[in-house]
Amino acid sequence: MSTQEHVTCSKKNQDMRCGGENVAQQAMRSSLDRIKHKIVVLSGKGGVGKSTVAVNLSQALAMSGKLTGLLDVDVHGPSLPRLLSLRGERPQLDAGRLEPISAGPNLWVMSLGFLLSSEREAVVWRGPAKMKMIKQFLLDVIWRDLDFLVVDCPPGTGDEPLSVLQLLGPEAKALIVTTPQGVAVDDVRRSVTFCAELGNPVLGVVENMSGHLCSHCGQIENIFGSGGGEALAEEMGVPFLGKIPLDPEVVRAGDEGFAFLRVHPDGPTAQAMSRIVAPILGMAASPVGQPPLK
Ligand code: ADP
Repeated sequence: MSTQEHVTCSKKNQDMRCGGENVAQQAMRSSLDRIKHKIVVLSGKGGVGKSTVAVNLSQALAMSGKLTGLLDVDVHGPSLPRLLSLRGERPQLDAGRLEPISAGPNLWVMSLGFLLSSEREAVVWRGPAKMKMIKQFLLDVIWRDLDFLVVDCPPGTGDEPLSVLQLLGPEAKALIVTTPQGVAVDDVRRSVTFCAELGNPVLGVVENMSGHLCSHCGQIENIFGSGGGEALAEEMGVPFLGKIPLDPEVVRAGDEGFAFLRVHPDGPTAQAMSRIVAPILGMAASPVGQPPLK
């Protein structure tokens, strides 16, 4: 570039670098570059266990020694503070940036829930305001050098998942949670198409509440059916990561505010969760940018 061009460019917009990327965008890029793997947890429907999967995935990664961030971008119903017994926590400000809340060794959490004055406070925000908030959660939170950032999105393919995937860029991988029933599975098709349109790879599909783990005999009964998510993953050409049974202890863990895997590291449900996490942990061993293991 000639000096003349450079001068014209600086005059045009002092905040804007030649090449079109402004200072704020560069700051965000360098902040996000410090995070090796970004996983965005999506679902077609609410209530399928997306937050439960996000919490237990993050917990498993942290327990395996990986530095993990967990970000909740559900503007209308942030649930992570409750699921991790972090209600009432307030992030500290450091030079205008927010410190994430520690949720045990190797795990840091940020949620809009930490910033609302009360749990009853309803947030009425439209698309651009949500985008701004999500940008701040990615840029203005001191995530430091993470192995993984897990982002828990509200269900569907609306403003929040769109903003997250656009801001994180094409290296962010989607993990899609469904239940085995046909109605839930149909919505997964939309999630897979959504990711394809944005150019984000799908890490895989998790079928949650797949069969019921009997608390008496320990056997898994397929009362609600099983295999819908697996068949869909095959149909859509995306990896199937595994099934998690419907287990009353998972409900209890959520209600009591602790990650299931932290207190039940063994047993059929924990083993099912660990099988799902294994290839994701494997990503950390391969060079950044490598495709996920299938
Ligand atoms: P979502 O984020 O999709 O809305 P949640 O993770 O909040 O769903 O889960 C909805 C409810 O289902 C919670 O009460 C949670 O404890 C329960 N739940 C999730 N997964 C399981 C499971 N595998 N077994 C039993 N209950 C589950």
